[in-house]
Amino acid sequence: MSPETLLRIEDLSVTFPNGNGGLAALESVNLEVPECRFMAVLGPSGSGKSTLLRAIAGLIQPTGGRLLFNTPEGNPPRIGLVFQQANLMPWRTVIENITLPLEIQGQHPGYARDLACEFIELVGLDGFENSWPRNLSGGMAQRVALARALIMEPDLLLLDEPFGALDALTREHMGAELLRIWQNRETTVVMVTHSISEALLLADRIVVLTSRPGKVARVVDDPFPRPRTDEIRYSPEFVALSRDIRASIME
Ligand code: ADP
Ligand code: MG
Repeated sequence: MSPETLLRIEDLSVTFPNGNGGLAALESVNLEVPECRFMAVLGPSGSGKSTLLRAIAGLIQPTGGRLLFNTPEGNPPRIGLVFQQANLMPWRTVIENITLPLEIQGQHPGYARDLACEFIELVGLDGFENSWPRNLSGGMAQRVALARALIMEPDLLLLDEPFGALDALTREHMGAELLRIWQNRETTVVMVTHSISEALLLADRIVVLTSRPGKVARVVDDPFPRPRTDEIRYSPEFVALSRDIRASIME
């Protein structure tokens, strides 16, 4: 495996039992996840995007194929997960939500709080340490979820439509914030999204899945040079590639 590859997915298939021969969610997916790069996964609803992410996270067992991690011993690296819903604990403040994974690990509370403060600053939540989840906007709640994932210093950050529940402008802003955070942490990101422009603005590699059962329809590498400005989305190249990717998703 090339040293730039963190994970090689070989012939991955996932079939869910349904009492009727099984429901094939993913079929023979072959894919390389480049280390310290940003990969986006696009595909129609039900194409197995979340299933792919859950298989990578080890939350579901593949029915076929294998995942090869380019780590010593081939063990999975530290993984951070963020879903569409922040799933914060309503009875814990912002900082208490972020320190939770460290508490579970049995880390010293003082150390956990100091580290949480660093991540609160990184995700732009200074001043909200002691706020309650019910008083946060959707975008702020997702920032807490991101900080909670990042505090474990994951080598691989898996994001499943993390901004899917946000309004369009907040979503764009959070995309830019995520880019800044990713550049700051040097971690590998795999993000599922249904937004073609989000993928084009953020990702180094874009993987398009076919409709169920999900297979790799297409891989687009380095769509545009970085830094990608907001202006780029109005360029003819951006519009043309968006249209082209949309066509491969509709096929
Ligand atoms: P996507 O995230 O692309 O919308 P999913 O990965 O959630 O798609 O689902 C792919 C297919 O697998 C869907 O048809 C879905 O209903 C089915 N599926 C997902 N999870 C399960 C499960 N735990 N049990 C049975 N079927 C599932
Ligand atoms: Mg999904």
